[in-house]
Amino acid sequence: MNRKMTENELLACFEDELKSGHIYAVYQPKINHDTGRMIGAEALMRWSHPEYGMQYPSDFIPVLEAHDLIFRADLGIFELVCRFLRKCLDDGISPVPISTNMSRYDIYGKAYVEEIEKIRGKYDVPVKYLHIEVTETSAIGGMELLTDVLDQLHSKGYVVEMDDFGSGYSSLNVLKDLAVDVIKLDMRFLSGNIGGRGGTIISSVVHMAKWLGTPVIAEGVETMEQADYMKSIGCRYIQGYLYAKPLEEEDFRRKMEQLEQEPMRAPMDLINTMNAGKFWDPTSMETLIFNNFVGGAAIFTYQDGNLEVLRTNKKYVKTICVDLTEQEVIGSDPWKSFDEENRRIYEETLRRAIETEDEETCETWRTIQSKTCGEDKVCIRSFIRMIGRAENQQLFYAMVQNITAEKQQYDQLHDSERRFRFASEQINVYAWEYDISKKEMRPCFRCMRDLHLPPLLENYPEPAIEMGIFPPDYADMYRDWHRQLEQGVDHLEAIIPLTPDRVPFHVRYTLEKDEAGRPLKAYGSAALVVDKV
Ligand code: C2E
Ligand code: CA
Ligand code: CA
Repeated sequence: MNRKMTENELLACFEDELKSGHIYAVYQPKINHDTGRMIGAEALMRWSHPEYGMQYPSDFIPVLEAHDLIFRADLGIFELVCRFLRKCLDDGISPVPISTNMSRYDIYGKAYVEEIEKIRGKYDVPVKYLHIEVTETSAIGGMELLTDVLDQLHSKGYVVEMDDFGSGYSSLNVLKDLAVDVIKLDMRFLSGNIGGRGGTIISSVVHMAKWLGTPVIAEGVETMEQADYMKSIGCRYIQGYLYAKPLEEEDFRRKMEQLEQEPMRAPMDLINTMNAGKFWDPTSMETLIFNNFVGGAAIFTYQDGNLEVLRTNKKYVKTICVDLTEQEVIGSDPWKSFDEENRRIYEETLRRAIETEDEETCETWRTIQSKTCGEDKVCIRSFIRMIGRAENQQLFYAMVQNITAEKQQYDQLHDSERRFRFASEQINVYAWEYDISKKEMRPCFRCMRDLHLPPLLENYPEPAIEMGIFPPDYADMYRDWHRQLEQGVDHLEAIIPLTPDRVPFHVRYTLEKDEAGRPLKAYGSAALVVDKV
């Protein structure tokens, strides 16, 4: 007669059933979706009563928990798993790590870690084959208690997996405060709603986990669509009916013998000693700095040509002139604003940043769509640094400056001016134009490149003096030259030691006048003084 047992029936026969092996473990594989290989398994409790048939965990586990019997049951399953692993090892099968479930009642007034260690010792199973799954609800009894148990587990070498992540209360806090090694994200809590809020939650968790360097296993994956979605956001480990239902011990053993296995890898290897955990903590100093004290900045990943923005600050959004919210920027495809040539420049810079592991810069034009102003073009100077990497994915930090105004000035230069700038480039001198009435100076390309000058300097010659191009002891003389030019002096020249290095240059000015003979422009040049032999 197959039926669900009553509470009293369960309690009456529990001990005998455990001893006689009617309460036992089945094994559900955990798979790498990319390779199809098995990376581990979870032991799940089953109760097959000789008279009443199969009983299900959702029915009998709450009863065991309520009557303080779950501890016995969990240790029973742990022992079966150890016995099974011992057999495999003795038979020359290399097993995958197997996780067992720890009930939150296993830690109240119980020496859980001590007890499982005794069992493990009895079967002499290396700890690397044993993972422990804990749930967020274990924190209900107090964060200290759970933290203490996790510390004990870690000190013995157990890998701890956070089960049913996202189902409980204050998941993010739990994640921040608990040192778990693997996160299990249950698709069923997100009710197939991949396109909507559920998808956003999943992708945020996966991204955050990447930052913490914690692998994520998607649980309860039933469809290829779900599996592909998880893969697309960087979660490749899957446990669910799509790949395998829980298997009886014999079937599972055969699967282990046949299947190639592979170890689970942390998804992102952070470069240097960045504390990623702190970065996601809204109250940390790192967050404070990111939000307030740096310019526009973003964190993004790059994989197979795709860019994905994980995090930005407000200044970033403002700098690239987008009237979107930070959240909208994170959801959009950054390449949309690049044309082919600018994308090539940007990707080339990413490649350099990967190669040099140093800061690399580039300037790229982007087309932005503004709700208020329609389409516009902006030029962004980016300072890019790789801060983490996985197999074929890199994590970048980019600081941005909007240099559109600077660039446009440059573009608006008259053709003649442009020719002038190129010409001086050719003849190996530094040259500039000085507009007498406006006191504006326009340097040649060589000046801009070597002396880092902008295309236009106002209130000339003061900026050149301030920058130390003309040294302090020549400042008054140089100012006086500009007064003389104003008064119509046609030609000025002298040897002046330029820049803080005091390199001698032959500096000349030639004045240009309008038809009425009024001073209009002066053409300056500086040629290196070469010692004559
Ligand atoms: P859990 O730890 O989240 O285990 C995963 C559950 O999801 C298992 O149910 C598994 O059979 C089921 N599952 C796996 N893939 C899929 C899928 O693609 N679709 C659907 N709909 N379900 C899937 P099960 O074995 O009935 O266990 C239910 C719960 O009972 C477990 O949830 C766990 O909380 C608890 N449990 C099971 N075994 C033990 C144990 O040994 N000790 C303790 N304390 N609790 C256990
Ligand atoms: Ca579990
Ligand atoms: Ca679970």
